[in-house]
Amino acid sequence: MAWDFSTEPEFQQKLEWIRNFVRDEIEPLEVIFPSCEFLPLTDERRRIVDPLKQKVRDQGLWAPHLGPELGGQGFGAVKLTLINEILGRTTWSSIIFGTQAPDTGNAEILARFGTEEQKQRYLTGLLSGEIFSTFSMTEPQGGSDPRVFTTRAVRDGSGKDSDWVINGRKYWSSNASVASFFIVVAITDPDVPVHTGASTFLVPADTPGVRIEATHHLVGSYSHDPGHSLVHYDNVRVPASAMLGEEGHGFGVAQSRLAGGRLHHAMRSIGVAQRAIDAMARRAKSRFTQGSLLADKQLIQEMVADSFVELTQFRLMVLHAAWLVDTAGERAAREEIAACKIATAAVLKSIGLRAIQVHGGLGLTDQMPLTSVLMGGITLGMADGPTEAHKVNLARQILKGYEAEDPVWPSEFLPNRIERAREKYGHLVDRIPALPVSP
Ligand SMILES: Cc1cc2nc3c(=O)[nH]c(=O)nc-3n(C[C@H](O)[C@H](O)[C@H](O)COP(=O)(O)OP(=O)(O)OC[C@H]3O[C@@H](n4cnc5c(N)ncnc54)[C@H](O)[C@@H]3O)c2cc1C
Repeated sequence: MAWDFSTEPEFQQKLEWIRNFVRDEIEPLEVIFPSCEFLPLTDERRRIVDPLKQKVRDQGLWAPHLGPELGGQGFGAVKLTLINEILGRTTWSSIIFGTQAPDTGNAEILARFGTEEQKQRYLTGLLSGEIFSTFSMTEPQGGSDPRVFTTRAVRDGSGKDSDWVINGRKYWSSNASVASFFIVVAITDPDVPVHTGASTFLVPADTPGVRIEATHHLVGSYSHDPGHSLVHYDNVRVPASAMLGEEGHGFGVAQSRLAGGRLHHAMRSIGVAQRAIDAMARRAKSRFTQGSLLADKQLIQEMVADSFVELTQFRLMVLHAAWLVDTAGERAAREEIAACKIATAAVLKSIGLRAIQVHGGLGLTDQMPLTSVLMGGITLGMADGPTEAHKVNLARQILKGYEAEDPVWPSEFLPNRIERAREKYGHLVDRIPALPVSP
């Protein structure tokens, strides 16, 4: 099957429009409203943000990750990659285009598993970017391994009129301080392995017993940023209808949002890395030290070349995963998406570090947007599951496709290859190389 990343010329024009719009109209928001993306809109911010969102809608580009049933265009993953790699250049563009994580994934869960009442109450606001949401799965005692999760949901009553009562603590609940609702993963059956014993619940933020105990911020972020919260669910009572998806399928529901989300992060990271390379190249061509421009020094040229190679590989990798999602579905692309998730962190870290290095001391200051590239790499190597866990899972999947063989003389050992060649063509050729060693 041929891989095809081509798009029609009209779409190319849309990409051009997005490129200019992001550069000219959205990038300035970084410095006027730094780190305010996830704060409720004040009148001042609304004066700028609402018209920008309207321009995006007028172009038919609002929420490009969604299908038409949810108000998107159903662009598919390849086109979404081409859009998101431009949007990735600046953090505000996700808000202006309605593609901000974690709301995108939470909206998909609501659309897929929510009741009509839940959708009416939250989905419209979430899709229009008027409210925010939180995905609350990681616990203070660990995020990489769900087997350590202890947050419990216990049924009270029976049938449709029963309630669930949730008790436990969740950590790293991003944007909890501004969220209208939380999607909480809790153990509903402690007697079976966690992957079949957890369920997912929609918990309105104002439910009695939901308490934000602390909010932590990443180094370098502003204190007004909504941050990542430690949330105590203390006898939180929700109706049976709060369960999203089937009982015991909590991780299936979680995965349904995480896989797409990881790919979206990868798409945006292409733009983040490209912006860092652009800055690196401009600086290299401008800065004169030790008798020549940085651009004329081979060690700097190596940094530029290596960055280009890494980003080109990464971009093709993401496009390929996206193409697979479009042609065979997200499930079929699981390994490719995991590979993109692993590569995202690595690419941002190495390109971010080089961009800082080329800028010297200035690159390390808050006057340049470069440490955030490096930090983004470190962060994305942990958020949505750490790189190590993804590598372990990916390797397991890959290894499933192979059979064990002779532990002493592998099939690629020359005598074995000669033996196979002899079987295939021995009757047709005069001389087959002799076996150097008899296995
Ligand atoms: C910016 C940010 C936002 C986040 N947002 C959310 C959110 O909205 N909702 C949410 O539920 N969670 C969120 N998380 C939590 C995130 O999913 C966890 O941080 C992650 O799963 C790791 O869990 P942990 O921090 O408890 O580290 P631990 O589980 O304690 O792991 C520590 C380290 O051990 C290593 N490790 C793990 N497994 C293996 C292995 N198999 N082999 C070798 N080494 C391994 C990794 O290097 C890992 O970083 C967020 C995290 C960050 C950093």
